[in-house]
Amino acid sequence: MLYNLTDIFSSEGKEETLTTAYESEQVIIHSETYPICECSPLTLTLTNKAKGEVLLQGEISLVCEIPCGRCLKPVRVPLELKLEESLKESMIGTPEAADEMSFVAGYELDTDALVGNEILINWPMKVLCHEDCKGICTVCGKDLNEGDCGCDTFVPDPRMAVIKDIFNA
Ligand SMILES: [Zn+2]
Ligand SMILES: [Zn+2]
Repeated sequence: MLYNLTDIFSSEGKEETLTTAYESEQVIIHSETYPICECSPLTLTLTNKAKGEVLLQGEISLVCEIPCGRCLKPVRVPLELKLEESLKESMIGTPEAADEMSFVAGYELDTDALVGNEILINWPMKVLCHEDCKGICTVCGKDLNEGDCGCDTFVPDPRMAVIKDIFNA
């Protein structure tokens, strides 16, 4: 949703709480698409700290489907996001705002952009279906968690080959 900040910026001591849905069913990172399977409503509290200064705090929890880094099986990964941003009226329209308040356009707070931004910051670097996932066979593509495939994945070490030659000479 879009929330107009004009009033909260100018009303000293004011606190506003709002609840809204995050209107997105997927996360796109480096042109990969990851489905969002579950999503709680976003709760936001906006507190006027001084004239032109607002503290934004919020919470949302999501479950995203991310493929295991080794076997590619989809893994449901929960993301518990806690948001905290300091909004400054004096920054609106300045070049710094594009970096630090990219989710504010004019006086409009874009809650979807806010959450999208936070998802990217908290996106897990590495996802595994379980810690000792064996991955997939590089020869036949079988999921090695379901058993051995019997492929010969032995890569001869060239240095060993030299030693073997010496012994055979
Ligand atoms: Zn796996
Ligand atoms: Zn194999």
